[in-house]
Amino acid sequence: MELIYEKSMAGRRGVRLPASDVPQARALPPNLQRSEPAQLPELSELDVVRHFTNLSRRNFSVDTNFYPLGSCTMKYNAKVLENAAGLFAHAHPMIPLLPGGEKLAQGGLAMLHDLAGLLAEITGMDEVTTQPLAGAHGEMTGIMLVAAYYKAKGNRKKYVIVPDSSHGTNPASAAMVGYEIVTIPTAPYGDMDLEAFKQAMNGEVAAVMMTCPNTLGLFNPHIKEICDIAHSHDALMYYDGANLNAILGKVRPGDVGFDVIHVNLHKTFGTPHGGGGPGSGPVGVKKALIPFLPLPRISKDSAGGFALLQENPQSIGRVANFFGNFGVMVKAYAYIIMLGREGLIKVSEQAVLNANYVMAQLKDYYDLPYDQSCMHECVFSASRQLKQGVHAIDIAKYLIDQGYHPPTVYFPLIVKEAIMIEPTETESKETLDAFIAVMREAAELAEKDPAALLQAPVTMPVTRLDETKAAREQNVCYARW
Ligand SMILES: *Cc1c(COP(=O)(O)O)cnc(C)c1O
Repeated sequence: MELIYEKSMAGRRGVRLPASDVPQARALPPNLQRSEPAQLPELSELDVVRHFTNLSRRNFSVDTNFYPLGSCTMKYNAKVLENAAGLFAHAHPMIPLLPGGEKLAQGGLAMLHDLAGLLAEITGMDEVTTQPLAGAHGEMTGIMLVAAYYKAKGNRKKYVIVPDSSHGTNPASAAMVGYEIVTIPTAPYGDMDLEAFKQAMNGEVAAVMMTCPNTLGLFNPHIKEICDIAHSHDALMYYDGANLNAILGKVRPGDVGFDVIHVNLHKTFGTPHGGGGPGSGPVGVKKALIPFLPLPRISKDSAGGFALLQENPQSIGRVANFFGNFGVMVKAYAYIIMLGREGLIKVSEQAVLNANYVMAQLKDYYDLPYDQSCMHECVFSASRQLKQGVHAIDIAKYLIDQGYHPPTVYFPLIVKEAIMIEPTETESKETLDAFIAVMREAAELAEKDPAALLQAPVTMPVTRLDETKAAREQNVCYARW
């Protein structure tokens, strides 16, 4: 497909405005004036519409295809949630920050306050900040709160413990806040090695970051014991709640013993992500950490009005502009209200059922390194196919040809040739069955005609990429000028 610059025709215009008859009050200073016209493509409106519409049709999206990308929760996001966000489209983010502006922003502040309350209720925490802009940003905020808590106690501590199955953002966030990382291996049954954990625990550990269910899709049966052990060493428990789909309405991390949590509104709570939109990673805390929460915080007065709390000497300060990604929060709020308690419980039940269904249907075709019932996702290994020279990546590419977004591959790192499938609750049995058929077909092809898999994808505008180069030498600029 041609780039938009290559479609440019000198002199072609989308819109022609009449000559301005407004007198020019003052010219820009010469150093701010262009010496040459901007080098923009010259096209008609129809050229532009066709260009971008055709480009958009080359995207994979949940709106066009099944997207079982493990650990990403690519569920369908109801369009009515976009309408809800649109209701606030005219609310300028500066309004509540202007003198007296709080009065004009009561609706928005009420929504933020209510959403924080609902998330606290869902996660079992005492208070929530909605400021962080993504999951990783929530992690960093959460660990900053941990650091502020220990600083106030006069004992900074040194280490953060993570299991080796953790999302890469966990050790990265803790390291950014200044902690040294201690990694605990995974035991044969798929959970963090309890004995190794006990040995690593000491008074210098500030926090233990856990994902539960972990990235193998397994719920740790010792989770309460782990929380108790950490607390007995005066360490805090951090819950990576990026994907809450497995436990919504079933388990509240705060009840289990976790002290800090982040949740990804853009995974669990009805908001598109990736290329589809911005994220939001609210952080919930137990009482002891409330004084350190980012500012501004929203408080409700006795008359039911909302005000901004701007000052607090112990706060870690601002972590985002304005109030974070406000539109995402409106969608999450509408999602929670729309589903209600019963609906949220159904989300997790259906998500877990779908993942187990896919696992059971594919287990004879792919190796299942941790063979037990899973939560919201299941992790296979293509090690059987590797004997024929077929890697997980080849199966992923074959799926693209068949109209499916590939599952997550090569993550978690502890599974060789990992294929991590997260179907989510929004997919029908028919869609799952069609996907299962294609996955079985790929396994059969690996036996009979492995070469065919190595060529995939053959139907796409771009065929096999050099994956390493694509990641390491990314160049998304159009370099004609
Ligand atoms: C997605 C994810 C994150 C990071 O969230 P981002 O919004 O991409 O920063 C962290 N932990 C887990 C388990 C995740 O799945």
